[in-house]
Amino acid sequence: MTDGPRVRIAPSPTGFFHVGTGRTALFNWLYARQQGGTFVLRIEDTDTARNRPEHVDGILRAMQWLGLDWDEGPYFQSERTALYADAIERLLASGAAYACDCTPDAVSERARQRGDKTPGYDGFCRDRGLEPLAGRLVRFRTPDTGQSSFDDVIRGTVTVDNAKIEDFGVRKSNGDPLFLLANVVDDAEMAITHVIRGEDHVSNTSKYLLLWEALGYGPRPVFAHLPLLLNEARKKLSKRRDKVAVEDYRDEGYLPEALRNYLALLGWSPGDDREILTLDELVAEFRLEDVKSAGAIFDERKLQSVNSEYLRAFTVDDLVDRAQAWLLTRWQPLAALVQERVRTLAEVYSMTDFLYLPQLVVDAEEWARGVRKHPAFAAVLAAASKRYTEIDEWKAAVIHDATVAAGEEAGVAQLGKAQAPVRLAVTGRSVGPPLWESLEALGRDRTLARLAEAQRRLESGG
Ligand code: GLU
Repeated sequence: MTDGPRVRIAPSPTGFFHVGTGRTALFNWLYARQQGGTFVLRIEDTDTARNRPEHVDGILRAMQWLGLDWDEGPYFQSERTALYADAIERLLASGAAYACDCTPDAVSERARQRGDKTPGYDGFCRDRGLEPLAGRLVRFRTPDTGQSSFDDVIRGTVTVDNAKIEDFGVRKSNGDPLFLLANVVDDAEMAITHVIRGEDHVSNTSKYLLLWEALGYGPRPVFAHLPLLLNEARKKLSKRRDKVAVEDYRDEGYLPEALRNYLALLGWSPGDDREILTLDELVAEFRLEDVKSAGAIFDERKLQSVNSEYLRAFTVDDLVDRAQAWLLTRWQPLAALVQERVRTLAEVYSMTDFLYLPQLVVDAEEWARGVRKHPAFAAVLAAASKRYTEIDEWKAAVIHDATVAAGEEAGVAQLGKAQAPVRLAVTGRSVGPPLWESLEALGRDRTLARLAEAQRRLESGG
C-alpha cells in the first residue's frame, strides 16, 4: 500500500456502464495516478433484487476497455454484509438508530394531516423503544437543531439545516443494509481519503457525515462532487432520452482512447484550447480543484470530432488493425451460426452487417414482399416491442418466448409468421442467422430502436 490518497469508483450493477460513471471513474483514476495513490473498485450490489452477475461483468469490461485499471478490488458489498450488520448493531446500541414499524402509507398520511409540504419521516417511532426485529426498518436519528456542513473541493462549503434531514433508513425491513450505510462503512473500512463522485450525491453527503460521526470513524474524507452531465437541451443525461451507455459507444466504433480523452474534458480543461491530450498529459495536467461546478454538456458531435482526430493520427496499418479488431468483436458472437449458412466469405459480412453498419440497410424488395405477405406485420412489431421491453434477461431463449407471446397477441399462431416481420425490421433482410441469437448479439436497445423505426416506415407507407 502506498501513502498516497485512496480513491474509489463505486458503481451499482444496473445493467450498463453510464458515461457519467465513466467520467467519474476516469477522474478518480487520474487523481490516483497523478498523486501516487490507490484506485479501488467497489461494486455496490446491496440491492439484491436488481443485481445480476452479467451486469458486474459489464462494469469490469467497460472499465478495462477504457483502460482504467484498478489497484484493489473488485470488492462486492454483497460479500461484506457482516460489516454492515455490525455497524447497524453499534448504531442501535448507542441509541443513534432505532427500529420503526410505520408503513409508508401511515408516514404520508401523517404528513398530509400536518399539512407538510415536504413529506418525510416525522420521528414517530423515535422513542417507542421497538425491538429491531425482522420486518422493521432501522432509522438513523438525525439532530433536530444545528447545521451540517462540509467543504467540497469543487463546490466550496455546503451547509444543510439538520432539521431538514429526516430520520433516514439504514437497514431495510428485510435486513439488508441501505445504500448510505454500506457506502459510509466501506469508505471507512477501505480507508478512502477522497470521495470523488457525481453531483447527484451532494444531498447524501450530510447524511453520510452524520453516520460517519456516529460510527466514530475519525477524520473525514475530502469530498469532490463532479458536475452533472447534460444533453444538448441542458437536461440531465438520461437513459430514456440519451445514449448513455459506454458499451454503445464501443459497439458503434468509438476508440476507447478518444472517449477517455473526451470524458476528461467534461468539467475540466487544461486551461487552453487543446482538445487532444495523451493519457500522460492528462495524468500530469489534471487538477481536481480546477473542475468546474457547472453542468457539462455531453455532445456526441464533439466526441465524433475527437474520435476522427485519433483515427486520422493512426498509421494506415494501425487503422487496418483497429478496424479489423472492432469488426470482429461485432460479428464474432454469431460466427458459429453464420458458418452453417454461408457460401462465400463475402456472405459472412452481408449476413451480419446489421450488427455493425451505423445505418440499417433494408432490402426494399424483401421488405415490400414481407409487408404484403404478413397482414399482421404492424401488430407483430408493436407486440414484440412491448414484450421485449418487459423481458428481464436479454437472452436468446427468453427472446424466443417473448416473440411467441407477441405473435399470439397479434393473432399470429405460427412462430414463423411472427418471426418474419421482426427479422425484416431488425436485420433488413428476410434470411440470416438464427434470429434469437442475432437479437441477443444486437442488444435490446438497438433492437427496440429498429422495431420503432420499422413501425414508422410502415406508417409512412414505406
Ligand atoms: N453506487 C453509487 C452510484 O452508483 C456510488 C456512490 C458513491 O460514489 O459514493 O451512484
